[in-house]
Amino acid sequence: MKIYLDFLGCKLNQAEAERISYGILQCGYSLAVDIKDADVYILNSCAVTAEAERKTRNKLAASVRKNTRIIRILIGCCGQKDKDEYLRQNLAEYVLGNDNKYSIYQILQTLLPYEFTKKEPENVGALKRIRSFVQIQEGCHNFCSYCIVPYLRTNENSTSVIDIIDTINHRLQKGYGEVTLTGTEIGSYSSQGYDLTALVKVILHKTEVKRLRLSSLQPQEISLELLQLFAANHRLCHHFHISLQSASPAILKYMNRPYTLEEYNDALERIWGMLPDAAVTTDVIVGFPGESELDFALTLDFCQKTPFAKIHAFPYSSRKITAAASMSAQVSELSKRERMFRLLNLAKDKMQEFALKHIGQVAPVYVEGQYNGLYEGYTSNYLRVFFTASSDLSGKIVDIKINSLMPSGEGAIGELADKRYF
Ligand code: SF4
Repeated sequence: MKIYLDFLGCKLNQAEAERISYGILQCGYSLAVDIKDADVYILNSCAVTAEAERKTRNKLAASVRKNTRIIRILIGCCGQKDKDEYLRQNLAEYVLGNDNKYSIYQILQTLLPYEFTKKEPENVGALKRIRSFVQIQEGCHNFCSYCIVPYLRTNENSTSVIDIIDTINHRLQKGYGEVTLTGTEIGSYSSQGYDLTALVKVILHKTEVKRLRLSSLQPQEISLELLQLFAANHRLCHHFHISLQSASPAILKYMNRPYTLEEYNDALERIWGMLPDAAVTTDVIVGFPGESELDFALTLDFCQKTPFAKIHAFPYSSRKITAAASMSAQVSELSKRERMFRLLNLAKDKMQEFALKHIGQVAPVYVEGQYNGLYEGYTSNYLRVFFTASSDLSGKIVDIKINSLMPSGEGAIGELADKRYF
């Protein structure tokens, strides 16, 4: 039986998809590269915005158009939120939420009985990449007023250190070299006395991971101890994703974010004080209820002044059952669109400014592969770099001299500066 595995949304969903793909192979099924060749379609879904739900429905509908005999299994946040609705609308044959998504193997068993094998599958990921996403934690208790996640990922728990180390070592054996630690709120990692910093230390000690990245952190979680570790170890990637969401103190408060603007600024100072080359990327929500033109101007001004490497801008999306959904003073769609336009323009400039800073520098790039005749990879601080080479450098970390910007502005063009490969 061939399974086409797909996901939408955050890096946590990607990590879960990787884990499920491994389980599928262990069950003796195979992963289809093209949905047309598959018997089963599994979609790990996202419900964080109305747009993400629309994409989920579209993907399910499109799967059956591409392959009329496909059996669709919806898992994840949309399954948790609206299981009966998806079944009623005949958008999926089976639906599992976050609470029970790993019982997917029982469904597969009913479709085609398998014999579980301890034999190592050849290919761990449905997602053939150099980078692997490893889940260390699930769930969030912050209840930011706009966010539906705490209602959909209700069981907050951390994976044990031993399981994380085993997973990473296993991925390394399979050829992956870079690992991103991911979860709903990885800063609240806590298991058997280990917090996130202690976990990172033990991973460095017990694995030979070439590069280790952290997914999103809250400003107050970026401690000096964590940064000292980053400064002392080149295997830790100098890239921090810290969601800002708004730079209006009033809006941050209405959002119930667990930090103030001052704390956010302090975190940036700590990072750039210790790691001047670090990339900081962020998320911003535009048009949160009550956001006035002045509130938005504060956000725009803050983003203008801060050397963010990337800004992900999202229009506020009302999610039923969240506190913000019933707030008065909802912002009109027109205002949201107009503010998004201004922020996206700024985001483009920021991305270019970040890439421009690297011109003339030589940086180690982890080469992910070759596309359209150009090799592509990322620096430790997450600059996307393209270059040419005469031998296959995929999977290697090589020194690249950064020469110019990509015409699209997304990333830079460089040349091989690593004598080992001349
Ligand atoms: S920290 Fe806030 S935005 Fe992030 S998952 Fe938790 S509730 Fe949602």
